[in-house]
Amino acid sequence: MMAKLQQNKSLSRSDAERAIIETGKLLYDKGYIVATDGNLSVRLDDDHILITVSGVCKGRLTKSDLIKCSMEGSSESNKPVSSEFALHLAAYTKRADITSVIHAHPPYTLALNLAGITLNKPVLPEIIMSLGEIPTAPFAPPSSPETAAEISESIKTHDAVILDRHGIITVGKNIEEAFFKIERVEFASKVIHLAIQSGELRELSEEQLEAVKEAAGRYKSRLVDK
Ligand SMILES: [Zn+2]
Repeated sequence: MMAKLQQNKSLSRSDAERAIIETGKLLYDKGYIVATDGNLSVRLDDDHILITVSGVCKGRLTKSDLIKCSMEGSSESNKPVSSEFALHLAAYTKRADITSVIHAHPPYTLALNLAGITLNKPVLPEIIMSLGEIPTAPFAPPSSPETAAEISESIKTHDAVILDRHGIITVGKNIEEAFFKIERVEFASKVIHLAIQSGELRELSEEQLEAVKEAAGRYKSRLVDK
């Protein structure tokens, strides 16, 4: 059963188109996707999403590269919908609070994953405060139904999930938020990669970690108050 949108968060088609086109270009220009990789979607209402078609460069999207699909998978167009449609659907199904899903292949994030280096070592306070734990979903072949199945638990409680040997999926209250989560994870991965080249990672002490978690709680309650 589809998780219903919280409150009145439906987006007009033209706003959704603009948001996806702009964000696709950002992802491509930043090198978080190459060639025709990656996929983006926005929830239009309780029953429909707007999602990228398969096989186009997301850095040069036009409106005709975006398809309105029902949550059951019926589409307004004959064009092939993103091969990761099921992955997007798995996120929308589990999260009533989100209106956007992005899947990308950020290289530092993927490199650390391939090397078996976790992002969950307590080293960067701002990652702990903004994202918390970043889980890695077990391996599944890209574009397979198993990929969607593997994230369906972790996406309930996390906004960014690494796909083993593949990439990342992020969700957000809007597409900008979903993009920022990829950017934050990739930045942390790059910094950790550089730090490992330079020496040993200095982890926060238990005391420092507690203080960071406390600050994160205060920070989140301020956001809720807004
Ligand atoms: Zn992929």
